Amino acid sequence: MRLFGCVCGQFHTTAGAMGMRAGEARVAAPVPFYVIDHPDGVALFDCGLHADVANADDDYRQALQAQGQDVTFGPDDTVARHLERLDIDPGRVRWIVLSHLHFDHAGGLHQVPNATLVVQRREWEAGFDRETARRYFLPRRYFDLGHKVLQVDGEHDLFGDGSVVTIPSHGHTPGHQSLRVRNEQGDHILVGDACYTCEAAETRSFPVFADHDAMNRSLDGLLALRGPDTVMVFGHDPGQWGENALLPAARA
Ligand SMILES: [Zn+2]
Repeated sequence: MRLFGCVCGQFHTTAGAMGMRAGEARVAAPVPFYVIDHPDGVALFDCGLHADVANADDDYRQALQAQGQDVTFGPDDTVARHLERLDIDPGRVRWIVLSHLHFDHAGGLHQVPNATLVVQRREWEAGFDRETARRYFLPRRYFDLGHKVLQVDGEHDLFGDGSVVTIPSHGHTPGHQSLRVRNEQGDHILVGDACYTCEAAETRSFPVFADHDAMNRSLDGLLALRGPDTVMVFGHDPGQWGENALLPAARA
């Protein structure tokens, strides 16, 4: 079983918004998703941005921009292009575990048509709640596409062998979840937006829209799962990608 980390474009924001001490300094925060090539099927953890966001003239792209979501994202950054470079046909992806339904995590669903979504029940419900979903920047037509949906409550062992297990980590959104992956590459906890950066795990500076008490509890729980060799891969940490990448990626 192999675990890959792929970067599906970047956000441009302040370091402070990522929970980093540099405050007002501008940072390019990666938008990652992950590919797990398991003998019993391919699974993704998240799937990045919608392909339309690569088109500067697109209405959805412009709406994101107008709402302050400043992203760099090209046609070669989509989930489908990453999978092709890994020689994986998007049509044979079996599972997409969604950390949550924010636009930069679930936007690429349309390119992976045959997968079953694995999502915490309360997150799936939140996606249909108008008031909550307004802050997700992912209209229903971009995620409610007829995929099979496995709604889970709490931990879920994806392949039944303990190698890939969902860990609920609510707070960033009502039903956020993280993923623990154990294989010959080591023990990785894919934190997702339960914590944006390594620094935010110390500063505990979380986004304004989130439930901070729940985020603190979830992050404490994730950190308590660490063994001596566990690698925590944070949601949008500029220091954990590029030349410092923790995980192998598709060839360029
Ligand atoms: Zn998010």
